[in-house]
Amino acid sequence: MKFSIKLLLCTIMILAIALGFSGYYFVNFVFETSLNREVNQALDENSILGFAFETAALNVPAKYDVLSNSSIEQIAATLATGGHSTRRLIRLSDEQKEVLFASDGFVDGNDLLLKTNESTKTYQVIEREGSYYIQTGVTVNALDRILYLETMKDVSEVFRERALGFSVYRRVTLLMLVLGTLIMNFIASWLTKPIRLLTRATRRMATGDYDYRARQVSNDELGQLTNDFNKMANALEENINKLEAELKAREDFVAAFAHELKTPLTSIIGYADMLRSRKLNEEKSFLSANYIYTEGKRLEAMSFRLLDIIVTKRLETEFQMVPADSFFHYLRDMFGTDDRLLYQFQHEPAMVRAESNLIKTVLVNLIDNAGKASEPGSLIEINGYREEDGYRFAVRDHGVGIPYEEQAKITQAFYMVDKSRARSKNGAGLGLALCAEILLLHDSKLEIESTPGEGSLISFVLWAESMEEL
Ligand code: ADP
Repeated sequence: MKFSIKLLLCTIMILAIALGFSGYYFVNFVFETSLNREVNQALDENSILGFAFETAALNVPAKYDVLSNSSIEQIAATLATGGHSTRRLIRLSDEQKEVLFASDGFVDGNDLLLKTNESTKTYQVIEREGSYYIQTGVTVNALDRILYLETMKDVSEVFRERALGFSVYRRVTLLMLVLGTLIMNFIASWLTKPIRLLTRATRRMATGDYDYRARQVSNDELGQLTNDFNKMANALEENINKLEAELKAREDFVAAFAHELKTPLTSIIGYADMLRSRKLNEEKSFLSANYIYTEGKRLEAMSFRLLDIIVTKRLETEFQMVPADSFFHYLRDMFGTDDRLLYQFQHEPAMVRAESNLIKTVLVNLIDNAGKASEPGSLIEINGYREEDGYRFAVRDHGVGIPYEEQAKITQAFYMVDKSRARSKNGAGLGLALCAEILLLHDSKLEIESTPGEGSLISFVLWAESMEEL
């Protein structure tokens, strides 16, 4: 059963019980009050009739010392008509509680009569043929006689009012329940709206619609739940996107790897086939063998690079505090003898946190790439300087530069901006991928600034001891 229906049913049940009880209590309270008032009135009327009887008895001619039964009947008959057209219902009984006079229609029973005595006024509510009466009884002292006077007062109206009250209340309760059901249905649906929206979002996400979010319609606990659900969905979507990107990168890697293998292998197989199937002159034989050798070397270099990347990924690096000087000495020794280009080294002293050999590999790769992108005689600047958050190594060239849209891709494995140019320089698009892996180990990354046709500045930052610590 739906939660909103449960909520609706519970509320309606509570409403029905509350209305039922309060209605019953209220109608009964009004009835009791009216009945009490009628009882008091009936008792008062009875007392007044008693006085009237005693007064009338005093007026009976003096020749009778004792009030005779016939005089009693006469007075009682007069009191019964009361001089009005409407008759009173009265009954008079003697000392032995024998009935002397009873109006037409007075009840036969003498339960009340038996309970009535000189000290108590009595009453009872009785029902006769669908009508209700208050029967009262008092003692009357008239000329040494003790008589019992009973009256009957019709209170059917009070009972009719009670029945009417119940019937009105039943109708009001029914109406309130119908109205309450309609209103509560609306309220239950409004209250459970966040749950419905959440359910819809969960279902949509289960069918793969990961960017679907539940709409937050309130600020209460359910609103908070929606908010938390959406946060969870964001995290989930982020992870899924990351996984998808990783999967795609892996597929791209395999595709690029296969492609990079295919080119040198095709050449090697082609030239090898030529050598074994035809008799070539010495020069052509040498060229073919040389081609096979250089392409083989390229494959070897590529496999070493790939191995480097895989090893770096799994490496448990031991970092040391290394003086920045040591890198610059190493680079000067390595590139100082290359007179094809003009190298300029400039650095500030510092102690950087690094795995020395790995960082040397990065720097050699960056300077190598800068050289490949530059014309002979061009200037390559290698700088090292302190920054607020560490020590920056920067390699600037004035070569071809990198197109803006390619700058983010050049660290991907096998990515080459100009494939034929890169291959002609023994490149396989793996150098920067290796650098990126090494820098990841150092919690750093390559930062690329490049203007096509003007040159590039490729740099990275390593953690360094502050000047005060030095
Ligand atoms: P490669 O082995 O081809 O040098 P890299 O991963 O080192 O592979 O570099 C990827 C590609 O990025 C290169 O093929 C080149 O097109 C481009 N590149 C890298 N450094 C520079 C640079 N300083 N100037 C221009 N292009 C560069």
